[in-house]
Amino acid sequence: MKIILLGPPGAGKGTQAKALSENLNLPHISTGDILRQNVSGDTELGKNAKAYMEQGTLVPDALVTEMLAKRFDQPDIKDGFILDGYPRNIHQAKALDELLKERAITIDLVFYLETSEPVIIKRLSGRLVCAKCGVNFHITNMPPKVNGICDFCGGKLYQRTDDKEETIKRRLEVYKKEVASLISYYEQAGKLKRVPADEEAGIVLERLIKLAQDYHDSPKV
Ligand code: AMP
Repeated sequence: MKIILLGPPGAGKGTQAKALSENLNLPHISTGDILRQNVSGDTELGKNAKAYMEQGTLVPDALVTEMLAKRFDQPDIKDGFILDGYPRNIHQAKALDELLKERAITIDLVFYLETSEPVIIKRLSGRLVCAKCGVNFHITNMPPKVNGICDFCGGKLYQRTDDKEETIKRRLEVYKKEVASLISYYEQAGKLKRVPADEEAGIVLERLIKLAQDYHDSPKV
């Protein structure tokens, strides 16, 4: 199954995408994660992307789309994937259609995680990320067992540089500007499922799994 996760920063896309990918046994493709790996690996792409990411603005479409095209050329995406963080605007949605068309792939479902602003701010300002395996924790909502250490791999937890209050506000502005056109694009394509996502991660995940199952069991024309 080919699934896109849409939603504001802090909607829980990363957490849900990881859980869904384990549940459905599909690769998780996160453009934010791939970009961060490039920044920490100091690659050419990472050098170009770093300043945009630190400011909370979008990395130029062409760079991210080329990066994603390379990811789609890997064989593990053949049976499906969970795409998280792309598309961020209508140009990227159209570029994605082209990339997929060239590879004879069609998107099955687009989950839109609907989240309210106070919940977003609370989630992002308390978010901690494992430097080693990328799993997200939260200072109060999902604290690690040992302070500063990942429960799963023992890696060190850090706060993302773009999870500071000023940058969070900018990321939300960028998001609001672009989201309406994306929503109507996928609504018109009949692929959009709105999923309330203010509740804790386990409840939201159950909703997503149910929708994926219903889709899987539904007759295809
Ligand atoms: P995320 O981990 O999805 O919150 O992304 C972190 C940052 O990476 C964003 O604020 C952008 O600067 C950049 N980024 C991730 N995905 C994209 C994308 N599809 N287009 C442009 N920039 C992106």
